Amino acid sequence: MLPTKGYAAMTAKATLQPFSFNRREVGPHDVLITITHCGICHSDIHQARDEWGGSIFPMVPGHEIVGTVAQVGSTVKKFKANDRVGVGCFVDSCRACPACREGSEQYCEAGMLLTYSGRDKDGQPTQGGYSTQIVVNEHYVLQIPSALSSAGAAPLLCAGITTYSPLRHWGIGKYHKLAVVGLGGLGHMAVKIGKALGTEVTVLSTSEQKQKDAERLGAFDFALTSQPETFIRLQRRFDFILDTVSAPHNYNDYVNLLKTDGTMILVGVPDKPTLLEPFPLILHRRRIAGSVIGGIRETQEMLDFCAMHHIESDIEVIPIQQVNEAYERVLRGDVRFRFVIDLGSIK
Ligand code: NAP
Ligand code: ZN
Ligand code: ZN
Repeated sequence: MLPTKGYAAMTAKATLQPFSFNRREVGPHDVLITITHCGICHSDIHQARDEWGGSIFPMVPGHEIVGTVAQVGSTVKKFKANDRVGVGCFVDSCRACPACREGSEQYCEAGMLLTYSGRDKDGQPTQGGYSTQIVVNEHYVLQIPSALSSAGAAPLLCAGITTYSPLRHWGIGKYHKLAVVGLGGLGHMAVKIGKALGTEVTVLSTSEQKQKDAERLGAFDFALTSQPETFIRLQRRFDFILDTVSAPHNYNDYVNLLKTDGTMILVGVPDKPTLLEPFPLILHRRRIAGSVIGGIRETQEMLDFCAMHHIESDIEVIPIQQVNEAYERVLRGDVRFRFVIDLGSIK
């Protein structure tokens, strides 16, 4: 067993605190990674507070992991010591079902094994990246391109792929008008990636002070969802809407902003459901869809795409001792646009 230090939530009501635990020994197909950076995703907060149900405690959150390879198993071919690598939201899947075989491991029929708050084959809970090291099967490890900084690349492992995957899946590009709802960690990546794909991106936000940021990130337009005129001015404007909002809100207001045959894609996961009105969907043959992260091959493609287009996340790097304060600031929308923990700060 490999003694490891991290920060954990011991219960859904507790703040995160120092926590020591063991990682498994490095097996023949495994890579041991010394973690240097880990992003703070809003999903970490939802799960550490058990807002979706089913959380496993103690929980070391973190699924936007970048580090360096410390050791590889006897049969590992893809990686060698000192390579800069990443790990995203899952660390295993069945590898046999149609989804796994086509590289969409996130839709594995047996269920992907989450990087944390999952239960491994041996019954042990998985623990995430707010820690000094992690052992992962080489299939679920990504190469970080040399053009990307470690801290700026970490959020790509979840926020980046969660927005890249639906944009690619629906072929969103230069002939489309896209609205991004919520300018947070996911939203700001959607603006950058959408812009790089040639799409005209409009940001729909509750935060007036984010207008300048939206322009700097490359948005074509910005509108406040607190103003009723927004929903009149932008009626039937968009081919696609990507909804990244973390809190309950009324989807029906946004459906009316879609053209006929338009698609609203949900990636944000509020902890309460919304009632859907059928008429706005029916009368314009509109669709509401969802999407979860992306497969391993597609995640590597996204990292290479970001390197080619000079895209990193906008970040604020913090020592792990500030993680609880960072959670509160994420909840207040007070981050531009992702906190990244420097794991060198663990004592
Ligand atoms: P985040 O950084 O906190 O951003 C969420 C944004 O939503 C905020 O910046 C804010 O943007 C907006 N918002 C917050 N409360 C709101 C409210 N009450 N009404 C309207 N808008 C509100 O969070 P994130 O890390 O980007 O994650 C966003 C969501 O996606 C979370 O629910 C997370 O769990 C989920 N997620 C899903 C996947 C997936 O695979 N589907 C992957 C990762 C994360 P404005 O200030 O611009 O309004
Ligand atoms: Zn995430
Ligand atoms: Zn599978």
